[in-house]
This record gives sequence, C-alpha cells and structure tokens, in this order.
Amino acid sequence: MKKISYNKDMQIPVIAETDVLVVGGGPGGLGAAVMAARNGAKTLLVERYGCLGGMAFHGEVTPFMPNHCDGKALDRPVYLEWCRQMEKYRTDKERKNVPPIQEYRVFPIVKEDAMLAMEDMIFEAGAKILYHHTLADVIKEDGKIKYAVFQSKSGLAAIESKVFIDATGDGDLAVLAGCKQEFGNEEGYCQPMTTCFKLSHVDKDRMPERTEINRLYDEAKARGEIDCLRENVLYFYMLDNDVIHFNTTRIVKKSGVNAVELSEAEIEGRKQIREYLAFFRKYVSGFENARLHSIASHVGIRESRRIRGMVYQTQEDFFNRAKYPDSIVRCNYMIDIHNPSGTGTEIQRIDGKDWYEIRFGAIVPEGSKNLLMACRAISVDHALHSSIRVMPPVCSIGQAAGIAAAYSVKENIPVPEISGVEIHKQLEAIGAFLS
Ligand SMILES: Cc1cc2nc3c(=O)[nH]c(=O)nc-3n(C[C@H](O)[C@H](O)[C@H](O)COP(=O)(O)OP(=O)(O)OC[C@H]3O[C@@H](n4cnc5c(N)ncnc54)[C@H](O)[C@@H]3O)c2cc1C
Repeated sequence: MKKISYNKDMQIPVIAETDVLVVGGGPGGLGAAVMAARNGAKTLLVERYGCLGGMAFHGEVTPFMPNHCDGKALDRPVYLEWCRQMEKYRTDKERKNVPPIQEYRVFPIVKEDAMLAMEDMIFEAGAKILYHHTLADVIKEDGKIKYAVFQSKSGLAAIESKVFIDATGDGDLAVLAGCKQEFGNEEGYCQPMTTCFKLSHVDKDRMPERTEINRLYDEAKARGEIDCLRENVLYFYMLDNDVIHFNTTRIVKKSGVNAVELSEAEIEGRKQIREYLAFFRKYVSGFENARLHSIASHVGIRESRRIRGMVYQTQEDFFNRAKYPDSIVRCNYMIDIHNPSGTGTEIQRIDGKDWYEIRFGAIVPEGSKNLLMACRAISVDHALHSSIRVMPPVCSIGQAAGIAAAYSVKENIPVPEISGVEIHKQLEAIGAFLS
C-alpha cells in the first residue's frame, strides 16, 4: 500500500482535565463511569457518537442475555439498576410483557429506553459526558498515559486524566497505548458480524413454529433467494407484540477494526436484510404486512481485539467453573461461538447452579501503569470471550474497572499494584454478587 508522511507535530487544545477518563459509552462504559463517579472520582465519559448505548443502541442488540445462577441475576448493582431505570420509559402495555429480571431467559429491551436510562444513571452518579469525540491517539509521559487525543468536528483536542478506562469494545485506547493484543481464533478469524434489524406489523398469532420458518428459510436459500451463511433464522420476541427482533445476518472473515472491511460489512449486512424482508413477506404467514421497524446504524461486532492483561484466562476456567479470591465478575453465560468462517454455532453450557469467575488481572493490561479495560476486549481466549461478551457481564466488568480507577486515584496507587482481593471486597461491599 502507498504511504505518505504526515506531520502530527502541532499544538492542540487541552479541553478537559479529570481523574478518570472513560472512553466509550456501551454497557462497559456505563458500569465504569457510574462506579468511578460514585466512588468519588471526577469522571468524564467520552463517546464517538451522539448518544450512549454501544451495541445496545447502535447495534440494535436489544435483548439482554441471561447471566443467572439459581434464579438470581449475577450482575449487580449497576446492571440491575440499568434494567430498573428503563422502567420509567415503558408504556403500560409494555410493562405487562416485561419478564421478571430474576428469571433465566432473555430480557427484551427498547434501545431508546436503554440509552436514556444510561444517561440518567451517569448524570445521577455525578459523571460528565462528552459526545462526538473519537479517540485518535494517546500521549504518554514516563510510561504513563497523560492525554487521550480525540478527533471531532473541531479538529484534534486532548483530555488529561490520572487514570484511563478503555470501554471502546475494541481496545482502541489500549492499542494506542502500546498494549499487546490477540485477535480471533487459531485461523485469525473473529466471530462473524451481524447487522441486527426488527420487523413490525407482524401478526404473531399466525406465525409458524421455528422449525417451519427454518424449513422455509432452507428452501429460500436453496433457490438462491437468501445468501446468508447462518444455519437458521435467529429471532426474539420484543415488548411490543407485533415487533420481532432478528439477529440473523452473518458476515464472515471481516475485521471489526479495519475500517474498509467495516464499510464492506455494512453493505453486506443490509444486502442480507433486503433478502430476509422479501422472504418473510412472501413466504412466512403473519409477515404479509411486515415492514422494517429499525436497522442497526452500526454493524454488530461480536469480537475484535482482546487485550493481553496481567492475568490471561482461557476456556479451561469455564469448564472447571474456576473461582478466585480476586474475582470481579461471576459468569455462567454459555460459550457461544457463531462460526467465524461459515455455518453453525458452537454452544457449551454451564448448569443453572454454577459459574466461573473473571479475575481482576484480566482487566489490567500488561505493561500499562494507569489503564483499565471496561469492555469485551479483556484478557481471555477466543472461546472464553464468547461467554463474557454479553451485556450483563460486560456491565459488571465495567463496574469493577470504575471502582479500581477511583481507588487508584484516591489512594495514589498505580493500577497494576492494586490488589485484586481488595477490589473484590469493595465490590462485595456495594452489593456485587461475589460472596
Ligand atoms: C450481533 C450481536 C448480537 C449480540 N447479541 C447479544 C444479545 O442478544 N444479548 C447480549 O446481552 N449481548 C449480545 N451481544 C453482545 C454485546 O452486545 C456486546 O458484546 C456488548 O455490547 C459489548 O459492550 P462494550 O461496552 O464492550 O462495547 P460496545 O457495546 O461496542 O460499546 C463501545 C462504545 O465505545 C464507543 N467507541 C468505540 N470506539 C471509540 C473511539 N475510538 N472513540 C470513542 N468512542 C468509541 C462506541 O461508539 C460504543 O458506544 C451481541 C453482540 C452482537 C454484535
């Protein structure tokens, strides 16, 4: 590829100074910002788009997957508060369809409710938000990150902070800071991307069983009417009776951190949506009058970089139901690997009464001094990543990062010297499910 030299040696404004800077406003960023602020740190969350939500909003990912044990949601307090905070935005009709949060089943949400509830919680905690700023660089001094540099409509600007939290989902901040990364499976492929969408005006009472929909789908694929590698149609019921959520397009062998491939993935995802729409209207009863209700504004990225931490956890921890004194999150969501290069989905489950644990060292990037991970890009292998990546545990990873960041600032302890056992105790004290 042709390359040109580019002069970055210029003066840029420092637009804010803070104790804790959280980059990224998805479920991980929510947990981090709320907890850092509640623990007394001056906290700023910076997000590249004009609202919060991450995949829950921009990716149109609107059921929370269950991370439950023995009838109890393992993720608390921030995740449960988020679910409750959405309540005030629901209609009476929707409220009747909300399942009890403690039940082991997917929890349907409305993306606008999720987004507004996140903003409410962050402001109530006393943190600030800056939208429309995309992380572009970091400036380090004495091995520590001193400034994060953002690109915006106003050009480049820097924000100074004592501790930095990477909640970008992709580990953008960690990579810019020089941290080690891993990518994909043994062939170098990540889980496929999916553009989620919803159809409304569906007559649910006349919908066929899933097996019949899948049979019709196979026939349409055989006729060449749908070109999608997914083995079946993956859909979920929403709070509105006539709305169905589809998590079913499949875009393989593209990288979520390669911008050209991302652009190609957007086009490919919407091509498949056009095919699904025509298929449902033509062949599936109940969908004759269905129309597009919404389409993700950003292709869904299940997996990209994983940042190597002080501790590295593998699928052995899932199979051994590993427990640790320095744990920060309990997880029993399944290993759920959508085939990175073709058809099929690998599922391994833990029974409803057990779990494994994520350790503090998995969110502390190796070699960093003032950086924490609060997103799916933590120090785990490809298989374990497929389990920790769903929104409830990611929110809990964020809450642990927020507590640790505030503690680092308050006690003036470099992040890598923080005791994981201490963070475990602080999490227990605020009601996290770790006892
Ligand atoms: C297709 C698909 C289906 C899924 N289905 C489910 C499901 O049904 N239930 C479930 O619980 N989970 C599901 N997941 C998983 C879950 O949605 C994600 O793993 C989770 O949202 C990750 O949270 P996060 O905070 O790490 O990242 P994200 O949700 O991706 O949030 C990252 C945030 O950082 C911002 N950001 C990124 N880069 C920058 C930058 N350089 N500068 C500034 N801001 C930046 C982004 O705009 C975004 O707001 C699914 C994921 C996908 C892709």
